Amino acid sequence: MSKRKKCTVCDKALAACICQHITKIDSAIELIILQHPSEVKNAIGTARILNLSLPQCQIIIGEDFTGNAQLNDRLNDPTKQCFLLYPSEDSIAAETLAGNENLDVDNGALDTHINRTFILLDGTWRKAFKMYQSSVNLQSIPAVRLNAQQQSQYTIRQTSIEGGLSTVEAGFLLLSTLDQDKHKYQPLLTAFEYMINFQIAQMPEGLFNKNYK
Ligand SMILES: [Zn+2]
Repeated sequence: MSKRKKCTVCDKALAACICQHITKIDSAIELIILQHPSEVKNAIGTARILNLSLPQCQIIIGEDFTGNAQLNDRLNDPTKQCFLLYPSEDSIAAETLAGNENLDVDNGALDTHINRTFILLDGTWRKAFKMYQSSVNLQSIPAVRLNAQQQSQYTIRQTSIEGGLSTVEAGFLLLSTLDQDKHKYQPLLTAFEYMINFQIAQMPEGLFNKNYK
């Protein structure tokens, strides 16, 4: 395979660089994206859009995060309350957290010293399931789910993957629900659409596989 030159900022091939389509969004919500190793080299991976657009978004690569010091530091930080975006049985609806900036879900009290961090799993549905199953530390933090109806509005769009949303779409829905502001986060989708349209234009008709996350 030939080594293609990459943009050092967005890590895409130079011709596919998305940097000029990225808009910095002034969001106070902290995101941690746990990226499956199989997504790292995915040319159409979308986690990078969140990472480049949001001031407080970091990516950690791995599969089993049980002993991941970087993640565990955050989970054990008493000034942070962490939530995992994952549709487990006992997950809470993202809407219930909207506007309650500092709601401590354990005791229902408002605590102004607690910042909320949301953890997203970046991988196919199957890989995300595996990450969740193997990462014991992720199973003990509250899980948050997106609104199913809103989610289906997005999955009918041409840009959506089979059986779920791309990571940037999930991030958009989560953040816009929490902040109750779709307009603010719209640039995430604009960058995403540019990236997808570029990829479609690169491929012979019918060959675009919906393998992006
Ligand atoms: Zn770039």
